[in-house]
Amino acid sequence: MDYQAVLEQVAADVAPLVGSGRPAEYIPALAAVDPYRFGMAVADVDGEVHGVGDWQEPFSVQSITKVFTLALVLALGTGDLWKYVGREPSGNPFNSLVQLEYENGIPRNPFINAGALVVTDRLQALTGDARGTLLEFLRAESGNDGLEFDPVVAESESAHGDRNFALAYFMASCGNMRGPVSRVLEHYFWQCSVAMNCRDLVLAARFLARHGVRADGSRLLTRSEAKQVNAVMLTCGTYDAAGDFAYRVGLPGKSGVGGEIIAVMPGQYTLCVWSPGLDARGNSVAGVAALDRFTTLTGLSVF
Ligand code: GLN
Repeated sequence: MDYQAVLEQVAADVAPLVGSGRPAEYIPALAAVDPYRFGMAVADVDGEVHGVGDWQEPFSVQSITKVFTLALVLALGTGDLWKYVGREPSGNPFNSLVQLEYENGIPRNPFINAGALVVTDRLQALTGDARGTLLEFLRAESGNDGLEFDPVVAESESAHGDRNFALAYFMASCGNMRGPVSRVLEHYFWQCSVAMNCRDLVLAARFLARHGVRADGSRLLTRSEAKQVNAVMLTCGTYDAAGDFAYRVGLPGKSGVGGEIIAVMPGQYTLCVWSPGLDARGNSVAGVAALDRFTTLTGLSVF
């Protein structure tokens, strides 16, 4: 497969959509990003990377970190995570509060904000430094020791994070937070602010295409756990648009409000696309279209 030629074709096909939608406005530091950016990269399971457009430009990784914190808790945890967070699609926006009250503070899945807060709380309890553990993992997998948090984004999120405060304190009232809530939130905001580019992300997500095996050949997840994370990405990774994403793209995927999306073809490749204009559900307009084009042109999807 000539991935470079496919990426160039995809970029040309979706060019009219780049700039459509709107960057996330509820986090002021993200609202300032130029919506006319587009980058995309693919890595095969051996780590050969191809890219197009702004694929080497860093952006704020946001909710894509939810995949990595979940994998780390599954790897380090005591096997009881699924008692505290579900694995069903929510059918509601990523920052919705509504189901928590009916479901005793147990979030529907680890990829909505409430679920990710539970996962970060667990990672904090397991390691004493959730965000540091995440950053070290991302540096190792991407081979980029220069990866850092973006303090401007982290402070901006914290200052405008009332919804996440509400989610975390509500779950604490139901007994579903271990650590002090303020500390969990701090780690969550910093976690979301990690700056990476498409190249870093396709490499960092590669363990999901390698059935749980890390870049250095060691095992992070069992084959079965890697399958489970990919399955939850397929059903929940793009929030209340997960059905449409599966229909169009046909791959496990995870989006973030920075306009990035990763997608995984187990045994074959990982993809990352970035374009900041979001649709009403918080997914990149040009990003979803580009992934749709990629699996259509290559014929390579899990279906
Ligand atoms: N940091 C964002 C938030 O908590 C992440 C949401 C997202 O990327 N969907 O609201």
